[in-house]
Amino acid sequence: MNDKIKKLTIAIDGYSSCGKSTFAKELAKRLNYIYIDSGAMYRAVTLYCLQQNLIKNKSINKTQLLNSLKDINISFNYEPGNQVFEVYLNGINQTEEIRSIEVSNNVSPISKIKEIRKKMVEMQRELGRNKQIVMDGRDIGTVVFPHSDIKIFMTADPEIRAQRRYKELIEKGQDINYTEIEKNIRERDYIDENREFSPLKKAEDAILLDNSHISVKEQMIWIMDIINKKINED
Ligand code: C5P
Repeated sequence: MNDKIKKLTIAIDGYSSCGKSTFAKELAKRLNYIYIDSGAMYRAVTLYCLQQNLIKNKSINKTQLLNSLKDINISFNYEPGNQVFEVYLNGINQTEEIRSIEVSNNVSPISKIKEIRKKMVEMQRELGRNKQIVMDGRDIGTVVFPHSDIKIFMTADPEIRAQRRYKELIEKGQDINYTEIEKNIRERDYIDENREFSPLKKAEDAILLDNSHISVKEQMIWIMDIINKKINED
């Protein structure tokens, strides 16, 4: 490895629940980079809206939300060695709460709002100012860091994704059923791919990774090989 390893920006985009965070977190740990889960930011805004009663039956009080934007403070506590990634909303640790099915069911409509995206993208660019970052999301390689050194676009079979998410939430003790999870994943994919601003799509220069039948260990061997080639290429 040479000095270039210290200067990369790595964008990981893709569909809901296809293991982006696991992949990105593990990669950041190996490279000793910052890891940012950009989806957690949209989830935190959604949790704020739910707490403030700004969403009723999936209808968002957009005017009030935009007036409150300045009151939404999102921060992270990240300890790469311990795999800790905590999300704070206005100073309160909401790492678990932002993963609830209620937040999942409302996050994509919130993420469609142009002004929300503008604020999140500004924060994400600031976090990536010094490079040495792995960020995962939906528009990282296309909008947030279009000049990323490495872009990965992840996908997996929707049923496999739903099963993985279901297992994860059950292990966390959440009271959910499989059908609801699969429905949520398919709905979010649809809204994310079809929204007007920064839709989910593969950047032309992104490398496709379908991890339906690949272990995390195999994915790490694959990506480290790509990184090694990249840093030795010129
Ligand atoms: O990554 P995660 O599934 O937690 O993201 C939750 C939601 O946040 C996505 O379904 C999408 O609507 C939104 N999102 C986004 N842009 C990103 C990251 C997430 O619109 N960069």
